[in-house]
Amino acid sequence: MTTVTTQKTWLITHRYFPFSSYLREKFSVKVHKVSIHAGFTCPNRDGLVGVGGCTYCANESFSPNVRETISPITEQIEKGVKYLKKRYGAEKFIAYFQAFTNTYADVDTLKARYDEALSNKEVIGLSIGTRPDCITDEILDLIYSYTKKYHVWVEYGIQSIHDHTLQVVNRGHDYKSFEDAIMLTKKRGNIKICAHVILGLPGEDRNDMMETARTVSAMGIDGIKLHHLYIARNTAMADDYIKGKIKTLKMEEYVSLACDFLEIISPDIVVQRLVGDTHGDFLISPIWNTTKGEVFAAITNELKHRNSYQGSKYTPPFSALPQV
Ligand code: SF4
Repeated sequence: MTTVTTQKTWLITHRYFPFSSYLREKFSVKVHKVSIHAGFTCPNRDGLVGVGGCTYCANESFSPNVRETISPITEQIEKGVKYLKKRYGAEKFIAYFQAFTNTYADVDTLKARYDEALSNKEVIGLSIGTRPDCITDEILDLIYSYTKKYHVWVEYGIQSIHDHTLQVVNRGHDYKSFEDAIMLTKKRGNIKICAHVILGLPGEDRNDMMETARTVSAMGIDGIKLHHLYIARNTAMADDYIKGKIKTLKMEEYVSLACDFLEIISPDIVVQRLVGDTHGDFLISPIWNTTKGEVFAAITNELKHRNSYQGSKYTPPFSALPQV
């Protein structure tokens, strides 16, 4: 076991490095993300890469604003800011381009939408969710240009490093495109990288998932979003689930896998998400009847029970990325 030499508060409170702690350490004020639907679509749904999208894709169910007519970005931000101030006492905001693929347009269009979000003086950063096959040097140059004044993240959906799994869920890209995207992004420096991973994808066992943990961690990413596979209505996966071809995890299974995953990744990776979030009406399975807070607490308790923490089994790599 490696040890975390600097005693960090999260070791005592959470046993993993939560985004809230990261933001508190970085900013003197309370910062929250405000979600936006910027009107983009996805190349895996409109035919450029594929049709139908990832078999679990339920963007309509998890992204705020997707279910309604899209209002202007400035309005969405104002509404989100108002809510987050009242609900959490938030003071500054990171505009989170969440719905669909937020680099899927020409650079001028992207710039106009990112600029619109940043025109709100209370917005101090950008977080841009996208696919690894939807990034170019030109787009990264644009994103990099914001890092001089703002706190900037790019969030790449990878879900698994295993090509077989990516094919099964119809991601429309392979692991290599993720590796390429990370390399391109890291070349610029200053842009923070977050990877999205799903635990419990069809055909994957614990070893497969831990291999994903080891590999993404070794790439030197800055953040991780982890969640369990859930089946939402109106998805291709829902059909397979109803036919009994797919199973979902029990909460105890997910908690155990999440803890294994956290133990393997670097203690410097900030955990931006630890559980899935789908709109109740859309969710088919699993139904855990728990709040997100209860899942977080179960993970912390399990880590305590194991007397372990994020990074307790982390082995620093030479480098997982090919040298350029
Ligand atoms: S990349 Fe994202 S938006 Fe596109 S189909 Fe997959 S989950 Fe849906």
